[in-house]
Amino acid sequence: MAIERTLSIVKPNATARNLVGAIVKLLEEGGLRVVAMRMTRLSLAQARAFYEVHKARPFYGDLVEFMCSGPVVPMVLEGENAIQRNREIMGATDPGKAAPGTIRKLYGDDVQANAVHGSDAPETAASEIAFFFPRSETL
Ligand code: ADP
Ligand code: MG
Repeated sequence: MAIERTLSIVKPNATARNLVGAIVKLLEEGGLRVVAMRMTRLSLAQARAFYEVHKARPFYGDLVEFMCSGPVVPMVLEGENAIQRNREIMGATDPGKAAPGTIRKLYGDDVQANAVHGSDAPETAASEIAFFFPRSETL
């Protein structure tokens, strides 16, 4: 299996509840290594751009507003099969449908405020990492 990198984001509902450490712990225990991390607050323009792929969806406006409602913690995770592995550790998009022990089951408040983001494919992982981290911080 290939060593990959993926982007994770601790979303505002989780930073508000002091869950950054708990979430990082689950990711690390799941076999992923944090290779870059920072805390930031997204502007509306940044959140709109990040979720551009969803702009036709009915929840887009609310999602953008939510992602700007407080600090977020983007991080680059590295490991074997990291993109898929991160999605397994996160659980299903809807916390109500997520498997026991997953981040979203444990810490998601609802389908929107589901505690974490995770890239879904190699191409999106690369563009999402570049969105948050200059090349010099991910060498
Ligand atoms: P995932 O984050 O699991 O990859 P999507 O890419 O489909 O899920 O959606 C991006 C984000 O949009 C979700 O993480 C969630 O915050 C929000 N979202 C998805 N579906 C809904 C929905 N039906 N209602 C409200 N928000 C949603
Ligand atoms: Mg997605």
